Amino acid sequence: MGIPFNKLTAVIDLAAIVHNYELLNKAGGAVIPVIKADAYGHGLLQVAQVLSQAGAQTFAVGTVEEAVALRAGGHAKTIIALLGPVDPAEYQALWDANIMPFIHTFDQLKRVLAMALERGAGVCGASAATGGVKARADEGEEALAIALKFDTGMRRLGFTLADVSQIAALLKGVPNVRPVMLSSHLATADEPEGGDYVAAQAAEFLAIREALEREGFPCRANLANSAALLGNPELRFDAQRAGIALYGANPYAGTAKAALGQGLKPAMSVKTVVLSVHALKAGQTISYGCAYTAQRDMTVAVVAAGYADAYSRGLTGKAWMCLHGKRVPVLGRICMQMCAVDVTGLEDVAAGDDVWLLGGGGAGRISPEELAGWWGTIPYEVFCLLGLNKRAY
Ligand SMILES: *Cc1c(COP(=O)(O)O)cnc(C)c1O
Repeated sequence: MGIPFNKLTAVIDLAAIVHNYELLNKAGGAVIPVIKADAYGHGLLQVAQVLSQAGAQTFAVGTVEEAVALRAGGHAKTIIALLGPVDPAEYQALWDANIMPFIHTFDQLKRVLAMALERGAGVCGASAATGGVKARADEGEEALAIALKFDTGMRRLGFTLADVSQIAALLKGVPNVRPVMLSSHLATADEPEGGDYVAAQAAEFLAIREALEREGFPCRANLANSAALLGNPELRFDAQRAGIALYGANPYAGTAKAALGQGLKPAMSVKTVVLSVHALKAGQTISYGCAYTAQRDMTVAVVAAGYADAYSRGLTGKAWMCLHGKRVPVLGRICMQMCAVDVTGLEDVAAGDDVWLLGGGGAGRISPEELAGWWGTIPYEVFCLLGLNKRAY
């Protein structure tokens, strides 16, 4: 795993993830941890394991491949694949590894139903491939449980309200596929002005839930993401799908609702090492393009972090690092595996010292929201990218 041979390490605090999970459970109840994209860069298997121990019963990954990897890693709880099956092998894996797919197109639904009919009743459920794990023991062994994904305003994936009767007609002919979950995703829950759109999506979601019930398919419903879990108590149905807040980023950072995310602990810190320390005299330049000129005599540390480590070159002239607990600015262009920071006035900086791109101790600690701001992005992307590096727990 990770970018080979580089010096960066993403240090993951699993206890912080458990802390955040418990906090979210208290705030909103019935959290489905979203652990897609390698748990937002924090490690699929590791995060699933600690949250499973903490009591989580259902987990959401992105691709069926991720779900299969999680099952192969020994995970025994319900696993939902948010993207649903894409290629033929992924359809087969739903049964082999006991995965609950998000079904969002008629093509997917028809294929799943056709496969289920082929298999016949009683063949599905926990298979030998999962080592006899009965991940859905409460839901019976015979039917494949699926989640129906509806579009209520994201306009990305999902059925619409108008599709319900056709979905129901298809499902009625195939008893060994059971829709047990109903989901939709909010587009604006974390936007300060997003309230009306959230309400409109929620109204559409309720109508869909009622339509499914009328057709004889009551489903456990989940709509909220992290932001809605914290900020929209009226949107709590049977469960909430929480991702970013589990990893300690506040979805409301910088808004009037920031207090809703109080107490979340960032779980990822990223460190590297100082390679050399030297003087930069007034008038000298540093790094490619001679783009930075020292205005005074300085001391600089060259550190092992660059864009090949997913530390974006776009951070040039913007980012800070944390060294010996203090903030130090990045100087000059960020290179492929290196960049420089200004350590003028800091005592005893030496090659081999740890330097933190994210996190770090003391007053200089860097929050995910700050780094994302310098980067021109959001903490989600910072975690996913820096989490590509090797990890320590
Ligand atoms: C990623 C994702 C989530 C989690 O969203 P956060 O904002 O990280 O809490 C929930 N639902 C779906 C469908 C997702 O893709």
